[in-house]
Amino acid sequence: MNPRKSLIGVPLLIAALVVTACGPGQRSTDSTDSTDSTDKLAVVAAFYPLQFATQQIGGSHVAVTSLTRPGAEPHDIELTPRDVGSVSKAKLVVFEKGLQGAVDSAVASQGGDRGLDVAPAAKLDLKLASGTTDPHFWLDPQRYAAVGNTIATRLSSVDPVHKADYEKNAKIFEDRLTALSTEFTRGLATCQRKEIVTSHSAFSYLSRRFGMRQIAINGISPGQEPQAAALATVSTYVRAHGVTTVYAETLVSPAIAQTVARESGATVSTLDPIEGLTSASAGKDYFGVMRSNLKALRTGQGCS
Ligand SMILES: [Zn+2]
Repeated sequence: MNPRKSLIGVPLLIAALVVTACGPGQRSTDSTDSTDSTDKLAVVAAFYPLQFATQQIGGSHVAVTSLTRPGAEPHDIELTPRDVGSVSKAKLVVFEKGLQGAVDSAVASQGGDRGLDVAPAAKLDLKLASGTTDPHFWLDPQRYAAVGNTIATRLSSVDPVHKADYEKNAKIFEDRLTALSTEFTRGLATCQRKEIVTSHSAFSYLSRRFGMRQIAINGISPGQEPQAAALATVSTYVRAHGVTTVYAETLVSPAIAQTVARESGATVSTLDPIEGLTSASAGKDYFGVMRSNLKALRTGQGCS
């Protein structure tokens, strides 16, 4: 492929990104301020939860960009030459090995020793029916806090001058996640229904942490079309277990959840796997969307 040719359209893309970054839903992820960003540590994050954690911990010392566009679904993304260039220039690349093949390749070829794979810190130990390891650790606040601490440790070694700030911010981040976890534990303590029927299997760590059970219509990536047989199985399950709510999500079409709901007489609600934020997200950042998720679960699962 001619690399020159593949750059056509990049100015348009940049213009689109600038517009998006100024949108009302993006305040929390906007890393620019009046300070010259060249003074800041350039960090590339693979997708929203890693971007958000790095911004929370890096604070004003870092300029974080995400390889996954706002509103894009992170599984199976492709990278532009500009994205790959940003990986080669960054002082740190925060990613999750195994989730995004294109990012894994870019880090392997361009990242040198500047890649930080958060998977070990997230202790990914849930295997899905397909044999794949569930990558959605950030939906369990305790795993997310552990990843935050790993990011702080790495930032401190890359930029030791600001070590105290990184440690302080990581502690604040962890405390906020502990408070969130407590809200979930209390909010989901007494529910009529423990089975959460979701679009794709993003909620197994969350389910395990808070005593629920996830039934996913789809596999690990929401883009896959489920087989008719799988749809029928889930619909039968929904009827048999008296499930009243089927959860769709924000970045993919709700059609599949709607089909199951129609066939089983359940209603459709939204549960956001927080793989990317848009202005339509039910919260301005991770914490806001997680609290919206808790609200949706309390209604959908009949929690008192
Ligand atoms: Zn996912």
